[in-house]
Amino acid sequence: MSKNTNPLMPSRLAKRMDTDKKTIYNILDEALHCTISYVEDNKPFAIPTAFVRYDDKIYIHGSVGSHFIRAIEKGLPVCISVTLMDALVVARSAFHHSVNYRSVILFSTAELIEDIEMKKNAFEWLINKMVPQSWEYLRQIKEGEINKTTVLAFDIDQAAAKIRTGMPIDDEEDIQLPIWSGIIPMETRKLSPIADEYSRNIPLPEHLS
Ligand SMILES: Cc1cc2nc3c(=O)[nH]c(=O)nc-3n(C[C@H](O)[C@H](O)[C@H](O)COP(=O)(O)OP(=O)(O)OC[C@H]3O[C@@H](n4cnc5c(N)ncnc54)[C@H](O)[C@@H]3O)c2cc1C
Repeated sequence: MSKNTNPLMPSRLAKRMDTDKKTIYNILDEALHCTISYVEDNKPFAIPTAFVRYDDKIYIHGSVGSHFIRAIEKGLPVCISVTLMDALVVARSAFHHSVNYRSVILFSTAELIEDIEMKKNAFEWLINKMVPQSWEYLRQIKEGEINKTTVLAFDIDQAAAKIRTGMPIDDEEDIQLPIWSGIIPMETRKLSPIADEYSRNIPLPEHLS
């Protein structure tokens, strides 16, 4: 069997793969964090971090002193992955247990964003993704805070999504066994906000309720 040399092409279950931009962007927009992997001095690293997509790029931020940011801002190739778990797939045999998921893997290199206005935009997109409509409500960002923070952008042009949906796919001869089979849906969702000790007398703003 010849070795698969295209990093965007899965060697198994290629039917679950999707390179449609809309599919990829929907997954990226729902996920609140990604994992950025890179190799530095022959050592692999994989660092979880918050991100936001805007147009055809994703943006991350971190302290100017962060080792991981400093490593990848030099232009090391990175692999960025995002996973949304939708269900546990409970089959009639251990072999056919699975997971319903939507995931994206993309390959890119960092572009250092130096323009102050552009950096501000990236912060605004990121904050509003985490807590919708909150940017305008917050104390304005200070120049010192912008200077202490690095913003990196990554093109999304080399990306693939992979999606599994639906029920277990059991072996034909197992279907009649008296063993329960199905899915256990899962979701990540925000619960009610909890005020800190200084916010107890401040009404919850509308965008948080
Ligand atoms: C959901 C989520 C969102 C985050 N969002 C951001 C963000 O937006 N910006 C940001 O700068 N950071 C974010 N972080 C933290 C990020 O994962 C790093 O810990 C952080 O950037 C510090 O990096 P560093 O340069 O000190 O790590 P490095 O010095 O590069 O890491 C060195 C070693 O420290 C350990 N380490 C570092 N981070 C972690 C970790 N998260 N878990 C376990 N071990 C670790 C590992 O052994 C790693 O090899 C987020 C983390 C999570 C889980």
